[in-house]
Amino acid sequence: MADNVLNRLTDDWKGLREIVVYGFGKVAQRNIGKLYRDFTIKYIVDNGADKADQQYQGIPIQPFADVKDKIAQYKIIVCTSSLAYASIQKDLQSIGVKEYEDYVRLEDFMPEWYWKYRGEVVISQMSSSITSKCTLNCRDCNVFMPYYKEHYESTADEVMRDMDLLFQRVDYLTSYFVFGGEPLLNNQLPEMLSRLYEKYHDRIGYMQIITNGTVLPSDELLDACKRCDVKIRLSDYTKQVPYQKRLQDVKEKLDQSGVDCRWEYMRHGSRCVFPKRKSRLPKRRKMRKNICWPARKDVTW
Ligand code: SF4
Repeated sequence: MADNVLNRLTDDWKGLREIVVYGFGKVAQRNIGKLYRDFTIKYIVDNGADKADQQYQGIPIQPFADVKDKIAQYKIIVCTSSLAYASIQKDLQSIGVKEYEDYVRLEDFMPEWYWKYRGEVVISQMSSSITSKCTLNCRDCNVFMPYYKEHYESTADEVMRDMDLLFQRVDYLTSYFVFGGEPLLNNQLPEMLSRLYEKYHDRIGYMQIITNGTVLPSDELLDACKRCDVKIRLSDYTKQVPYQKRLQDVKEKLDQSGVDCRWEYMRHGSRCVFPKRKSRLPKRRKMRKNICWPARKDVTW
């Protein structure tokens, strides 16, 4: 495992000084500070029309077509989602460069390079579940929340204590996710974000909350998200549960607030964590037709 994860870069990455950053979306924007402190960024490449006139610290953001003849001599760090990575790989292969020899994804680069050549521990991704309580009751919940007999809810003090312990051993965390159950049911969430940002914003690249969009975010939470540069990711379960109106209200409130957000459909048609054979539990049989439903009477939409 360690071999797979920590020995993919070729030896000539040692002594790295100059890099190209490919992709200037949110992942890059929230991690580029560390790259900028540690390397000379020769080019930033992004094909998005919205990036055409942008720059970072005086470095212009340019489309691939404009720089493709210049970037192959540098090591390239690709900062993007898994989906976009495939098309970027096509671009890069067209100029003859190879993965792990010449280019690598940020989430692969950070743990390996910093460990091997700086002795720093970098974790690509970590999540905290701050409550087991949820507004939905998904049969195939991949964190088993509907099956908890006793629920938990973390306090801001507990989250900070955990992160203090983590950062005694870890130097940098590229992405940090807060999820549940439904994290917006935990009313200490704004305080958690504020305290985390205040203490660790230079050691956490990217903070996100994952919510199912059934709970209207409070003004206090939205203020904290804006102040602490936290993104909200909405998981849309309306194909299973009819809460379109509430989800729309949540989206509108997020749009008006200016908090960065994105949403995605969740498909619970297939079971990802439960065994395929017929369950012997009568309760599970009952669940089969309705794979997701509201779990709390005090939450309406
Ligand atoms: S909304 Fe998410 S956390 Fe809640 S029960 Fe469904 S899958 Fe689990």
